[in-house]
Amino acid sequence: MTKQIDFSRFSSIKVGPVSDVIVVNDCSELPRNAHIIGSCSNILISDNPPPLCMLSKAFDFIMIKNDLLHIGAATPSGKIVSFCKKHDIGGFEFLAHLPGKLGGLVKMNAGLKEYEIFNNLVSLRTCSGEFPKESLEFGYRYTKIEGMILEAAFAYERGFDPAKVEMFRKMRANQPSTPSAGSCFKNPPGEYAGRLIEAVGLKGKRLGGMGWSDVHANFLVNYGGGTFVEAMELIEEAEEMVLQAYNITLEREIIIL
Ligand SMILES: Cc1cc2nc3c(=O)[nH]c(=O)nc-3n(C[C@H](O)[C@H](O)[C@H](O)COP(=O)(O)OP(=O)(O)OC[C@H]3O[C@@H](n4cnc5c(N)ncnc54)[C@H](O)[C@@H]3O)c2cc1C
Repeated sequence: MTKQIDFSRFSSIKVGPVSDVIVVNDCSELPRNAHIIGSCSNILISDNPPPLCMLSKAFDFIMIKNDLLHIGAATPSGKIVSFCKKHDIGGFEFLAHLPGKLGGLVKMNAGLKEYEIFNNLVSLRTCSGEFPKESLEFGYRYTKIEGMILEAAFAYERGFDPAKVEMFRKMRANQPSTPSAGSCFKNPPGEYAGRLIEAVGLKGKRLGGMGWSDVHANFLVNYGGGTFVEAMELIEEAEEMVLQAYNITLEREIIIL
């Protein structure tokens, strides 16, 4: 089955064309060369994207089984937090204001400071089988996971902590509310990408509808009607200027398709 998606509405950065996306119900339907998308909170879609696929609603589930939390890869972060609140489960409060679905959160090892989705991960399942955490390569906003993540199992502790939800909300106070895909670049070791972008004078710079946020320089934001071409010009300019000024190669956190 395919679904038409308007990426200028669907993606968090509100950029992209209307495009067909293959909806996958099980592994037999997984197209070979299609790129996987979750909720597109970390993806910038070009005007001519490659073939795209996403998991169907069959993978939007969450349950406790054998003392582990089993979460389907199409489950949104907000639903995970609601479940944890309802069942008095702790350790997932950091997802409260972190947009994404479980598959994207795991693939990106999403998190905030020392709180990362891999912290509680026990194993995950892809179309190639079950993989214990110990067998996976992962790091800061990085994993090496091949293929479509279908679901993952997590250890959990008792006690949902609303104070932590509030703490994470406050930690986001320096992030813009204008549409974005989150941080554009990873922080280089011992540095902050936002500080570097600001230091080369790009904080607040606009090009058409896109710009580097004047709230947080590492957020590429869409003020309305921003295009892929404008976004790429800003990204490449920042990379070039930071390289020239500091000899630092910024690594993109945003995924460009
Ligand atoms: C306002 C805002 C704030 C943000 N703050 C943070 C933050 O504090 N910390 C942080 O880490 N991130 C942050 N992000 C980025 C984003 O929330 C995360 O990267 C999130 O994990 C993306 O999930 P997604 O479902 O939208 O994935 P997508 O953006 O759709 O995809 C991201 C990557 O995951 C892959 N992927 C998606 N689903 C699957 C699957 N089922 N199997 C295999 N691969 C898959 C895609 O191919 C792609 O490579 C923020 C984004 C926004 C818009």
